[in-house]
Amino acid sequence: MKVSPGELGDLWLLACEDAGFKPNAEAVLYVVNGDADNGSPAIHIEPGSAVGADEEWPLRPNQVEDANSPIRRHSHRVAVRDFGSPRVALGRLRHELEHARQYERSAPLYRRMAAGRYALAREFELCEPPSRKGSGVLYNLLPFEEDANRAAARLTDIHFGPATESELTSTDAPLFRDDAAIEPDTLALRVLAFSALFPEGMAWVANKNKEPLNTLLLHFGDDAQLGWDLLYAKTEIRDYGRAALSQCPSESVIDSSPTPAVAWSPSKERIQEGKATAEAVLGAQRPPLRLN
Ligand SMILES: [Zn+2]
Repeated sequence: MKVSPGELGDLWLLACEDAGFKPNAEAVLYVVNGDADNGSPAIHIEPGSAVGADEEWPLRPNQVEDANSPIRRHSHRVAVRDFGSPRVALGRLRHELEHARQYERSAPLYRRMAAGRYALAREFELCEPPSRKGSGVLYNLLPFEEDANRAAARLTDIHFGPATESELTSTDAPLFRDDAAIEPDTLALRVLAFSALFPEGMAWVANKNKEPLNTLLLHFGDDAQLGWDLLYAKTEIRDYGRAALSQCPSESVIDSSPTPAVAWSPSKERIQEGKATAEAVLGAQRPPLRLN
């Protein structure tokens, strides 16, 4: 880790202030040793849930005890490791704290928004892509990840100035690339729109959760089922999802592209078009759909 503990502490204060949390009271940070390898470099743990150490997140016994203590248990807990630079550290901290804000806004939505991610993953596996290298760019299109990355990009830009060319082509680039304003009020609508691109995957997720799809959708808001039915009736919506996955690049195309992200552009564009189309359908409803 190229960031000293003191510096990391300062960046945590900055990220908390920007996200609107009282540091070490409403939100607590745990630093884990070691690098992320292919695992996640940071994680947000919702208030109230029990924290345990495992192979992926080898928290020390005193950290586990602290995270589960009566005074911490109802705080947002963020665990991190492995920063290449202070800029990456600040971006990651703010990213995770945006997930904390998403939880504060709607805990039901927060608890099921990842269904869209698993739905994409399921349909991705079913289409047997020639390579997975760099496919993370598709997951960064998930609306809740997009918002978290935007929050990271805004704060890192304010604090450190514009990202360099090498930072913008690094694997951490999603934290710096897009600093557009976040519209938290439309998150549920955007999650619903994204999920509708992968209906087969969503059915699989509901089945895996052992809950009917309409129960899962209720987490997105009272009218989510109505919105889902509207989108499901338009076959072109799911066609965007299918088209995206039929355009996955081969290993050789990925290797000959300037960055893996470039090779995934056609798939990425189809998902973006599908999202925009589905969001427009949902947004045009009158009276407006009641979503979380
Ligand atoms: Zn995230």
